[in-house]
Amino acid sequence: MSVPTVLVLPLPAQGHVNPMIVFSQRLVQNGCNIIFVNTEFIHNKVVSSMGNQQGCDTGRSLIKLVSIPDGLGPDADRNNFGVLFGSMLNNMPAMLEKLIEDLRLKDGVTVSCIVADFLMAWAFEIARNIGIKGVMFFPASASLLALNCSIPRLIDDGIIDSNGLPITQKTFQLSPSFPPMDIQSIWWAKTVDSKSANETYKAVVLCVQTLELTEWWLCNSTPEIEPGAFSFLPKLLPIGPLLRGVTEEKCLGQLREEDLSCISWLDQQPHASVIFVAFGSTTLFDEKQFKELALGLELTNRPFLWVVRQDSNSDSNNNLPLPNEFKGNQGKIVKWAPQQKVLSHPAIACFVSHCGWNSTIEGLSNGVPFLCWPYFIDQFFSKTLLCDVLKVGLGFDADENGLISRGEIKAKVDKVLSDENIRSKAHVLKEKLLNNMKVGGRSSENLNKFIKWLKE
Ligand code: UDP
Repeated sequence: MSVPTVLVLPLPAQGHVNPMIVFSQRLVQNGCNIIFVNTEFIHNKVVSSMGNQQGCDTGRSLIKLVSIPDGLGPDADRNNFGVLFGSMLNNMPAMLEKLIEDLRLKDGVTVSCIVADFLMAWAFEIARNIGIKGVMFFPASASLLALNCSIPRLIDDGIIDSNGLPITQKTFQLSPSFPPMDIQSIWWAKTVDSKSANETYKAVVLCVQTLELTEWWLCNSTPEIEPGAFSFLPKLLPIGPLLRGVTEEKCLGQLREEDLSCISWLDQQPHASVIFVAFGSTTLFDEKQFKELALGLELTNRPFLWVVRQDSNSDSNNNLPLPNEFKGNQGKIVKWAPQQKVLSHPAIACFVSHCGWNSTIEGLSNGVPFLCWPYFIDQFFSKTLLCDVLKVGLGFDADENGLISRGEIKAKVDKVLSDENIRSKAHVLKEKLLNNMKVGGRSSENLNKFIKWLKE
């Protein structure tokens, strides 16, 4: 069997880079070489967050980090997905092809397979053109992929129009074995403006069409969490939960520097006492809601660890002031946490989360009860999974002005922490999930099968 060189291509976003780095680490452990291709914008962040980090090991890595430009200027709004996608589509394919050619001619490295993120599906055309393997990696929920693949049916059933915009206000079901989806799950319609929504919709349609060029579909999930989605998409292979290991380059792939001081702070807190509050890499708060959250945490009278991002980039300015009344004595605020380490810390009691898919998988794999505060994309559906199907969490109810009040925050924290049922369900599910990755476990076997195919 040969040593395959796999080119891994994530969408340029934190929640996509992280699981694809962990996936790459698994391949390296199984004798593959990895060329990990980020856009220049992301690559620079990954490299600079590693460089400043104590305890971050970059020397042993067999993952070669390389980059190509996304075609946008340094100050462009990369949160506008339609614009970013269009620019990547216009600029990156030729550069990726050149990169593969240069690797062969200058470094003597022959790429044998491209594993690309669903939303980087244009890369499968390159794989086909140069006669190498193409594999799709889906970093979000299997249910979201099922939704993306169901666009023609959603149009036929009158859920969306031919431009992808929701027609009904009702919830809908992709199949009888699926939990109901909120109309907010039609994620491409939820972007900054209608032009961007249309561009995003077209991008999704294009990506789904290009999937016919791929031989495998891999997903960071398991059938224990999403049985309906995996029976809906029999081609989709579960390989989750993809978690960083203790001996691995812990921060490889982080776009921001981790503040490790929160771990020593957690060491000083009582067992199962701390509320961990983190909303991923893109969620934005308005000032009123931010204030209510701060005062709600204070009102719980419990220790809390709260991630408040402070992005210097003006497009995603999240530098809101803490309210004057906020004392913060029983809490710690950091700009970016080593989230997986935090979630596995015995001091953590519950996770106030936006339910991004990685956060969902990481919280479930650590048996931590959830308080769900979804923001967009599949986060509303993840909330349904966590609260209504798996029953390992609770949601917040907004008041008549759409605000989640400090009283509601305190009430739900108290409720989730006193619910034995939720805690024991979370614990049982954690064991089931982790079994997937043990020798002989389903995801572990699926990965082995995939790696064997890579080496053929
Ligand atoms: N994350 C982290 N530190 C933080 C907040 C988040 O390391 O303070 C990581 C988290 O572990 C996860 C990723 O960032 O792997 C966020 O992905 P997710 O899908 O949860 O949310 P997104 O950022 O895509 O909205």
